[in-house]
Amino acid sequence: MNFCPNCGADRIEKIIPPDDNRLRLVCQNCQTVHYRNPKIVAGVLPIYGDKVLLCKRAIEPCKGLWNVPSGYLENKESAEEGAAREVWEEALGKVEITGIHAVYSIARISQVYVHFLGNLIDGKFGIGEESLECKLFSEEEIPWSEMAFTSSTFTLRRYFADRKAGVTQTHLGNYPEEK
Ligand SMILES: [Zn+2]
Repeated sequence: MNFCPNCGADRIEKIIPPDDNRLRLVCQNCQTVHYRNPKIVAGVLPIYGDKVLLCKRAIEPCKGLWNVPSGYLENKESAEEGAAREVWEEALGKVEITGIHAVYSIARISQVYVHFLGNLIDGKFGIGEESLECKLFSEEEIPWSEMAFTSSTFTLRRYFADRKAGVTQTHLGNYPEEK
């Protein structure tokens, strides 16, 4: 950040403000503290019968690999709204969200994934602009070695384990996973 988004001055410095304990970007002209906080990625695992919907990414990072439909939340959007929007954008599918499935933190890069479970309405979907392909997979068909992100692998493994056990629960995960 070179110019202050508040006053336009080019006097941003990294200092620890009074009453704080971390380095922050502070404008030396208007004294505004420009906080940088983690990003939330919201997504849904769309379910239809015994299958789940995954998308093959058409964009970097991890172009060509499979992912649970998810993306960065937009401003003024709830987590579940953003998650459902991502299913529409990536797979042209509509979901009825049934609950929260996983909160998966990657503290190293300041990202938190929030994955919901949702019913894929009428089993209908297409291929959104950000996807090369979208497909319903049974557990046996999941391309485990071609998954884009560890958050997706975490969510899928927990989902199938829960389904076998006949339970619905919320999972907390961290990268790297503890064994
Ligand atoms: Zn300023």
